[in-house]
Amino acid sequence: MDDTNPPAARTLDHWISGARVSGTSSRTSPVFDPATGQTTAMVPLASKDEVDAAVKTAVAAASDWRHSSLSRRAAVLFAFRELLHARTDELAAIVTSEHGKVLSDAAGEIARGLENVEFATGIPQLLKGGFSEQASAGVDVYSLRQPLGVVAGITPFNFPVMVPLWMCANAIACGNAFILKPSEKDPSAALFLAELWKEAGLPDGVFTVVHGDKEAVDTILDHEDIAAVSFVGSTPVARYIYERGTANGKRVQALGGAKNHALVLPDADIDLAADAIVSAAYGAAGERCMALSVAVAVGDVADDLVSAIQERLPSLRVGPGAEPGTDMGPLITREHRDRVAGYIGAGAEAGAKVVVDGREQAVPEGGFFLGMTLLDEVTPQMTVYTDEIFGPVLSVVRVATFDEGLALINANQYANGTAIFTRDGGAARKFKSEVQVGMVGVNVPIPVPVAYYSFGGWKDSLFGDTHMYGPEGVSFYTRGKVVTERWPDPATSSVDLGFPRTR
Ligand code: NAD
Repeated sequence: MDDTNPPAARTLDHWISGARVSGTSSRTSPVFDPATGQTTAMVPLASKDEVDAAVKTAVAAASDWRHSSLSRRAAVLFAFRELLHARTDELAAIVTSEHGKVLSDAAGEIARGLENVEFATGIPQLLKGGFSEQASAGVDVYSLRQPLGVVAGITPFNFPVMVPLWMCANAIACGNAFILKPSEKDPSAALFLAELWKEAGLPDGVFTVVHGDKEAVDTILDHEDIAAVSFVGSTPVARYIYERGTANGKRVQALGGAKNHALVLPDADIDLAADAIVSAAYGAAGERCMALSVAVAVGDVADDLVSAIQERLPSLRVGPGAEPGTDMGPLITREHRDRVAGYIGAGAEAGAKVVVDGREQAVPEGGFFLGMTLLDEVTPQMTVYTDEIFGPVLSVVRVATFDEGLALINANQYANGTAIFTRDGGAARKFKSEVQVGMVGVNVPIPVPVAYYSFGGWKDSLFGDTHMYGPEGVSFYTRGKVVTERWPDPATSSVDLGFPRTR
């Protein structure tokens, strides 16, 4: 296998103060093309000193940007939106070359990210406060929201465009400077976004990219000039980010991992459910935080559902994401591919029925490919059920009743997304009401909220109390202030030591 560093592998830069800046730490990490297994770039890993220098420029930029008018901010966001739209194909190609997902999927993530930019163009409306004239005699009261200063985003490999846009569009629109620490596995998309922000007219220093690993992250978490941290990634790291960031007095929203269940009731349309579950289980090779990785089959629907899913798999093509006709690309790294394959073996050993074994599927040589796996008769004790696998492995758990299925979902440590497939409105209503999960789909397999709602799971899928983007994103990136104001005639003034009450 060739994952050595070919002579042409370039070294990427950070983006500081509106320009590319070479790393000086002498630590780097390889970036692979997962479809070939080759190293295509080296990403610099910032030292504490480099992060400190980047924060300094962001602090200076934030103090000006907070005074920019709302119409100027909206104009920059509109220009950024147009550029992102016009250059989607280029950006999608970058995403595919480092992440591996198919081009249409990469374009889809950009489109969902764009929604957040479009939402943020409405910032003049979103930041409108309340005003109460004559709250007391001669007294007016009004509220406003102000930026925090410098805020940071730490993002995962699986959505190198969409997740940064979940954060930076609102953060910048609210008047903050934003520092992005993207995943070191697919870092080039962040630099492309930086170029577009500059072209859109964003002042230098308002959007910064520092690449790195734990050293850069810890520097962000400890830095006294960073007011808030948004994180998306795995649960152990999310918990760590939340605990260390909040211990340092920061606002933190930390979104973690997932194990999303689809509950399929006996009255569901089997073809509709199978199409949806196959799409949501194997799309992006299962490397989505909203991937459906468990199908919970209620009663006698199980045999038909498993057959319908199985029937659909042979026609799906596994190959390089950039090749037309590919349905599913490779996994992100060789280690991750091997780890996912290990789960299939563990599932089989623990007694799961391997209906389709992705390890046996013919896949292109060289890259980090793994075929699609379907496991039936999975039980809640097996590691294929308890762990987030983050690969193209779908587990079917058989239960006797709706209540048993609901209890299974509610007992899981993760609670990001879930979906129910049924034609029974009453059952769907009970499910929506009683399921302990943050995002719910009814006959919708991947219920990622549109940008004018907010995104977030419950339990171990989110640490903190603010969901990401949408209205909750605007409040996360701003601090509220309430002004009570009067302009009395000084001649009427007198001393009164009583607690002020309204009149
Ligand atoms: P990850 O947790 O390994 O990495 C996320 C970020 O944290 C990266 O920028 C990485 O450099 C940094 N990081 C990793 N280890 C660290 C450590 N020990 N200390 C400090 N920083 C560290 O996640 P990933 O593998 O890039 O992404 C996949 C995970 O993200 C999955 O668990 C998936 O469910 C989750 N995810 C969740 C959501 C959501 O909305 N809840 C969305 C996308 C991805």
